Amino acid sequence: MSGKTRNKHKGRKGFLLFLCILIVMLISGCARIEKVDVSHGSETMTASMADDSETKIEPTEEPEPELTPEPTQELTPEPTEVPEPAEEAAEPDVFEVHFIDVGQGDAILVVCNEHAMLVDGGKSKESDKIYSYLRNHGIDHLDYIVATHPDADHVGGLAGALNYAAVDVALSPVLDNETETFRNYKKYLGRQNVSITIPEAGDTYALGNAEVQVLGPREIVNEDNNNSIVLKVIHGDNSFLLTGDAEEEEEQSILRSGADISSTVLKVAHHGSAYASSQQWLSKVSPQIAVISCGSDNEYGHPTEQVLNRLKAMNIPILRTDMHGDIIFQEVDGELRYGVAYDTNEDVYTPGIVPVPEEEQKEITRVNAGSGSSEGTNAQTYILNTNTMKFHDPDCRSVKQMKDKNKAEFRGTRDELIARGYDPCGNCHP
Ligand SMILES: [Zn+2]
Ligand SMILES: [Zn+2]
Repeated sequence: MSGKTRNKHKGRKGFLLFLCILIVMLISGCARIEKVDVSHGSETMTASMADDSETKIEPTEEPEPELTPEPTQELTPEPTEVPEPAEEAAEPDVFEVHFIDVGQGDAILVVCNEHAMLVDGGKSKESDKIYSYLRNHGIDHLDYIVATHPDADHVGGLAGALNYAAVDVALSPVLDNETETFRNYKKYLGRQNVSITIPEAGDTYALGNAEVQVLGPREIVNEDNNNSIVLKVIHGDNSFLLTGDAEEEEEQSILRSGADISSTVLKVAHHGSAYASSQQWLSKVSPQIAVISCGSDNEYGHPTEQVLNRLKAMNIPILRTDMHGDIIFQEVDGELRYGVAYDTNEDVYTPGIVPVPEEEQKEITRVNAGSGSSEGTNAQTYILNTNTMKFHDPDCRSVKQMKDKNKAEFRGTRDELIARGYDPCGNCHP
């Protein structure tokens, strides 16, 4: 892999982060931890744990026994080596940031111990994925749901989250927006009696023992992207800068404020648009790793060569949801590790990626297809309009008129669709 040699030259303070790669188990109940030592420029499996009984991220199955007993011995596979009884062990400190692959859009789940925050949810058609993702990770409560800005590729899928999880606080830069997606989002917030809170730059929110700092927007302008809520999530020595679709205008206003934007991991703004991620911004953030959330072959040409080249020139490794699927960072003993769902392209500039086993890839495909738990006897095929959030019989005449980008096929039950926020078509009465 070409990334290995390039990684050798990676300067600055990246050495800690890339010591280890954790292949985080994404959906199924088996944890497989692969640790890759990239500090010597070569991949060596220094530790490997593949124990079906170990479940680190799937709290829906046996949450307690797996997470409590060994906070300081994360790579020790045999529970017999844990000297202290479980009840004497300190509370495990869980900190994870999931960049959920929602195609062209953003969806980021931050988990800190028993607390969770969802930042954006992708387009409406990703509602199913968000719903399944939260369910599969046992997140039925969100301390915060954040719509960084009202664009459909950020707000649409939040309906899926609101159908699964109870939300305490909803953050958005504006109270209203004329788009149908935003109105729909507010409808689902309304069902939980949650009203929108507009955060102010400088505000901080607690997420367990992590701190969420609001860096932007510092003013509301005419262009939605530049009103994006920009958050810095800090846990111990690690930090994540989540930028929404902020472009250079907002970057400049945050830079002028003098806020400390340096971060361990940067969510590259606006899917890698050339109008964002200026050299000055990137230099100040000085991330050890960059994550780009975008869809493969998207119509916008994201991420752009300009931004990729700027990051490469700074020797910042890049992870991309279009090439790696879901990307999960996990802090283990203060050390940040990451795992990816798959690696589609050997040329992508990402040192030390280890593909997950094939059976886990299938799991991911299954969730992407939105066919979660559709074993029921009433399961059948419906056609969804992910824009209007209506569902139809496959032969309904409105299906023929539906734009391809709004169309999605769903196999499952009617109840399941309604639970996910879809309404039956008034013509075909599915
Ligand atoms: Zn966007
Ligand atoms: Zn946008």
